[in-house]
Amino acid sequence: MTIPMSQLNDTPLWHDRERWYAATSFLERMFNNYGSELSEVTEYANELGKRIDAVSPFIQDNTASVCPLCPKVCCINVHGYYDHNDLTYIYALGLRPLRYKEGLNDTGPCQFLSRDGCGLERPVRPFRCNWYFCRRLTQQMEDGPARPYRQFVNRFQEVVNLRRLMLDEFSCRVNLLAPQEEGFASLYMKSVKS
Ligand code: SF4
Ligand code: SF4
Repeated sequence: MTIPMSQLNDTPLWHDRERWYAATSFLERMFNNYGSELSEVTEYANELGKRIDAVSPFIQDNTASVCPLCPKVCCINVHGYYDHNDLTYIYALGLRPLRYKEGLNDTGPCQFLSRDGCGLERPVRPFRCNWYFCRRLTQQMEDGPARPYRQFVNRFQEVVNLRRLMLDEFSCRVNLLAPQEEGFASLYMKSVKS
């Protein structure tokens, strides 16, 4: 069975608890049992975390200028959940998913939002959170000094490429391991069924 990683990328995973548990069980099993086979995935994830951290000051400087005055803050609950690809990255880092509060409204303020902004370290925020820039924020970045902005755009592209490499490597390893892992295919199918 070939497992296309595109099927693993969805936002409302947490809302389908059966699929969430299937996905996390699948990743738990992969990273517990095949640490050495997945070592390259882990290396990519560690490097990715460092690179996301490296762009944090630039983003922080800009959000600090516009977000406190924002009339419609974009940090709502639905954005705060990990999707499949975020989960792969989190497990590769040797971490485990956050414990989400039950019964929250998707459109209410995000459970991780504090008075000082997001309460999660930037490298472990859902990917969509780190790379969402509203028009006002984009304008603020573009209007600033050109060199840091150009550097940020380049670093951003590197992060996207690195994440793609990490996910492709994971996909490749999963497909190589699938034939020898009993029950693996059904666990996977539970996690991606729509
Ligand atoms: S990123 Fe844009 S929409 Fe989100 S809080 Fe900041 S200014 Fe508001
Ligand atoms: S950036 Fe943080 S507070 Fe904002 S939606 Fe994402 S997880 Fe929630």
